[in-house]
Amino acid sequence: LTSSSSGSGLHVVHIAAEMAPVAKVGGLGDVLSALSKALQKKGHLVEIILPKYDCMQYESIQNLRVLDLAVESYFDGHLFKNKIWIGTVEGLPVYFIEPLHPAKFFWRGKTYGEPDDLKRFSFFSRAALELLHQSGKKPDIIHCHDWQTAFVAPLYWDLYAPKGLNSARICFTCHNFEYQGTASASEIASCGLDIHHLNRPDRMQDNSSHDRLNPVKGAIVFSNIVTTVSPTYAQEVRTSQGGQGLHATLNAHSQKFVGILNGIDTDSWNPATDTYLSFQYNSSDLEGKSENKNALRRHLGLSLSDSRRPLVGCITRLVPQKGVHLIRHAIYRALELGGQFVLLGSSPVPNIHREFEEIAKKFQTHEHIRLILKYDEALSHSIYAASDMFIIPSIFEPCGLTQMIAMRYGAIPVARKTGGLNDSVFDVDDDTIPIQLRNGFTFVTPDEHAFNGAFDRAFKYYKNDSEGWEELMKKVMNIDFSWDTSASQYEELYLQSVSKAKAARRAA
Ligand code: ADP
Repeated sequence: LTSSSSGSGLHVVHIAAEMAPVAKVGGLGDVLSALSKALQKKGHLVEIILPKYDCMQYESIQNLRVLDLAVESYFDGHLFKNKIWIGTVEGLPVYFIEPLHPAKFFWRGKTYGEPDDLKRFSFFSRAALELLHQSGKKPDIIHCHDWQTAFVAPLYWDLYAPKGLNSARICFTCHNFEYQGTASASEIASCGLDIHHLNRPDRMQDNSSHDRLNPVKGAIVFSNIVTTVSPTYAQEVRTSQGGQGLHATLNAHSQKFVGILNGIDTDSWNPATDTYLSFQYNSSDLEGKSENKNALRRHLGLSLSDSRRPLVGCITRLVPQKGVHLIRHAIYRALELGGQFVLLGSSPVPNIHREFEEIAKKFQTHEHIRLILKYDEALSHSIYAASDMFIIPSIFEPCGLTQMIAMRYGAIPVARKTGGLNDSVFDVDDDTIPIQLRNGFTFVTPDEHAFNGAFDRAFKYYKNDSEGWEELMKKVMNIDFSWDTSASQYEELYLQSVSKAKAARRAA
């Protein structure tokens, strides 16, 4: 096992459902690996615990092997053995838990979206704590993420701290308050939580369905540190309109709740070294960007006749949060304005999927529009590199990474001012913003008219001022979106919490 002593640094263990590139569905996966790498670079010992999914990208795991440690964990009145694997991902030690449970929780060919997701991830949360306990680790920080591992916070304080796994402070990051894992008390009880003790308004009881328990609420109540992924979203979720039913809980715990803007992994998202691209480029040599634009147009069968025809990109999960009606509208508007449009998106929502399939079919041989309805990491890199503009018309957006990735690749964002987009995209025409920060086109009201206000200005700028546009591209490519600053903020929170615990222990 990896040593638990980390010299002067902290020992941080992340327990999560995703980590890029091995198991990534969305932004959570990116955050896990990039934040961990940044913390490791600062001298901390960082370890990660993930489920061992059958559908992982196994080629990204080095030296994967089974440990000689059979961890038994409780579920539904029985003990189940777990096979523990260890490997290295992006230079980080990662433990993979393979439950030897008859339901084959992580042999489903997909990460989420199974009818028994609650069982799968509450089982995993418990087994992860059991792994820490049985291997004798003494982490300073256990950091859990989203509803899938929110169970860790109450399990830790109710069951594991009394058993002696008591060295840690618990940090919980909610990457999206839309997903809370709310379920009946009996379902939540399967992982061994004492529901009679927890089913109270000031503990885990759901704020709107009083006969249900809410894992995210439990993590807010039982963690020492609670974060979300941007300062604006942290404000929004404390209001009744934005809080998805949790605003009162967040306000009651506001002294431990902060919003820290995510960064991006600037090593893997780097147009100067990106091996997915046919042509590498950087802000002082943009030649490669137009070559990538032509390469993508050729690859997708789009017209190459006019190199100055702007290419608009959009890469997203197609869910209501992302403003699907505005994405659909943008396809037609781009055409009207004389642009090309490429959408890479996948949808877990059947009617949205069907609707976009129709549109994809309609444009399947069109010379300016292409919709690719799947998840494709390689293609996503090519689209960021080829795009002149990139749209993110979200209804709400906890942080959003695609606007930052787009800018790193010289694509100018057109974004709605909400959540993390409000903290990272600043309108080129907004005189209240210092000029050096202005980097894109924004709008406020989530309707077509307001969207056009920003989109049309972007097209006008692109068409009428090619030099100004090139300056803007260079400027956005040089913005520092790395994790350095944000990881320091997490480090600061960890250190404060650890020293508070030490002081409390000394005083006891
Ligand atoms: P969310 O976590 O809500 O999905 P984010 O903007 O935080 O949104 O993160 C999205 C991440 O997932 C980005 O890295 C983006 O490139 C990637 N992504 C989204 N959809 C696809 C897709 N269809 N194919 C490839 N990558 C995708």
